[in-house]
Amino acid sequence: MNPAASNILQRLIGEGGFVSGQTLCAELGMSRSAVWKHVAALRSAGYAIEAVSGRGYRLERLTGAPVAGEVSPLLETASFGRTFIELESVDSTNIRALALAREGAVEGTVVVADSQTGGRGRMRRAWVSPPGVNLYCSIVLRPPLPSFRVPEIPLLAAAAIHEAASQEYPELKLFIKWPNDILAGGRKVCGILCEMESEPDCAHFVVVGFGLNVNLDPVPEELQGIATSLCIETGRKLSRARLLAAMLNRFERLYHEWLEREDLGFILPKLEAHAWLKGRELQIEQFSRVLVGTGAGLSPQGHLLLRCEDGSVIPVTSGEAHLRPVNQQQET
Ligand code: ATP
Repeated sequence: MNPAASNILQRLIGEGGFVSGQTLCAELGMSRSAVWKHVAALRSAGYAIEAVSGRGYRLERLTGAPVAGEVSPLLETASFGRTFIELESVDSTNIRALALAREGAVEGTVVVADSQTGGRGRMRRAWVSPPGVNLYCSIVLRPPLPSFRVPEIPLLAAAAIHEAASQEYPELKLFIKWPNDILAGGRKVCGILCEMESEPDCAHFVVVGFGLNVNLDPVPEELQGIATSLCIETGRKLSRARLLAAMLNRFERLYHEWLEREDLGFILPKLEAHAWLKGRELQIEQFSRVLVGTGAGLSPQGHLLLRCEDGSVIPVTSGEAHLRPVNQQQET
């Protein structure tokens, strides 16, 4: 959406009622015909805008698209989402945000795209990103902390997304799957990908990206049995803009609190209350080995605690966690 149309949208949302064409012209520094043109563009993007001569324009219906015009009025943040790059389509919001961060983008800069052509997860795996239904978002962070704390960020983001989605869908039980996923009904609704540029002692910047399946329905063929969406699980469509604003509001609060703390201890009870892997029989695939044991929770550093067969509990710093098939559980 172009910035002028976005400004008109925000002004109409803020007013809630009629705003005269003259007021829009004066406040936004544009001609009557420019206002008319941008209102027409908003209508063709799906916004219902009533026009009454002598009274002006009134917004009747939003689209829920994750655009600045809809998200900004809902933000309670100081920096998160205050610089908001919205794109129709992009290869990957993380790639774009990393490039912007290298050019000096401020902390809290958000890149959102309606679709991604090369969305990615860990290990360069593809993140399926169709248009018009989901959230694909990356946020630039500049934590003044040693880089060893960066691996805590995906769980911090997961907590923010979990809280935001749970507030919007109180009927839905969502689980956080260490280290970077959110599941509903045992299937993936959200993946988080954190990338950084750093020196050994300090992170120059971090980009935390997430893909959240919001109104996706049905699940694309290639994700059958793997993925689900908030809509499929609840039967309710939701405004992506509202969900994104709720996430950014929470994430900024959690992030600032986290900067003051030494680790994730302050949200550990929340993370553990919704942990998918806790108490389950697991197989953790790492580069050179496979670990087997029972999920025993999380450490304050965000490591998965694994209870091994000899009873010892070890912290697992990285890897892919899978539930062990029942027959394997019985054999060991
Ligand atoms: P795992 O899912 O095995 O725990 P992971 O969490 O590291 O691995 P990622 O690499 O972060 O997974 O995400 C990529 C994987 O997520 C893909 O291989 C695919 O299985 C799945 N995936 C891709 N697109 C979507 C999507 N839109 N919704 C849900 N899952 C998806």
